[in-house]
Amino acid sequence: MLKVEHLRAFYGKAQALEDISFEVNQGEIICILGNNGAGKSTTLMSISGVMKQKEGVIHFKGSDIGKKQPHEIVALGISQVPEGRRIFPTLTVEENLKMGGFLKKRIDKEKIGEIYELFPRLKERKNQLGGSLSGGEQQMLAIGRALISEPQLLMLDEPSLGLAPQIIDMIFDSIISLRKRGMTILLIEQNAELALEVSDRAYVIELGRTVLTADSETLRKDRSIQSIYMGQQ
Ligand code: ATP
Repeated sequence: MLKVEHLRAFYGKAQALEDISFEVNQGEIICILGNNGAGKSTTLMSISGVMKQKEGVIHFKGSDIGKKQPHEIVALGISQVPEGRRIFPTLTVEENLKMGGFLKKRIDKEKIGEIYELFPRLKERKNQLGGSLSGGEQQMLAIGRALISEPQLLMLDEPSLGLAPQIIDMIFDSIISLRKRGMTILLIEQNAELALEVSDRAYVIELGRTVLTADSETLRKDRSIQSIYMGQQ
């Protein structure tokens, strides 16, 4: 579904990505692991079209999306949940969800219903302002908003960041139920343990390069690989 080959990206003259290659097949959960500053967020932003200074190949469902604008990429079926959620604090939960459908002429009430089914907490708080939600609820809202555009590929940037363990479990349960409904997911995480538990395959990036790929189960069992590439003991 998504194929990235020899991706390079730059912030001005500074090169953030040197050589990133990976593939995501339909129905898979793929995780990208790596330490702080390895280039995980830059990789996602390159795919979603936010990062413009880039070279290499980004193919989605067979077509080249490397030069496309972010709204065109959303329309083609890729939605991103950015790090730090970035919900609209002065809009209600339901208004935030509707903003996720700005490219559509009409927002399906059924679609909002499905999101409330996935995250009952959002339904309970649908008239509450986004800014008054807890961190975990804001993460649910950010995922819900990304789902409104009915993506075929959902990209999540560090969904566990700054959340309590119990809330993290809820978020990851929702990732698993999304996959059961057929969603393809590209997940970026610093919490390797968690990401390897829910994903099918993993890629490790280091200093802007893909250095390793394996199925998640194998990687999860291999503590030596984890200690080399992910700073785990
Ligand atoms: P983190 O988990 O800390 O977000 P990451 O793996 O997502 O790390 P990136 O944020 O993609 O890493 O950063 C990759 C490299 O690009 C780093 O060296 C970082 O310092 C650099 N970088 C990121 N954003 C910018 C920016 N706006 N301007 C200049 N350099 C940047």
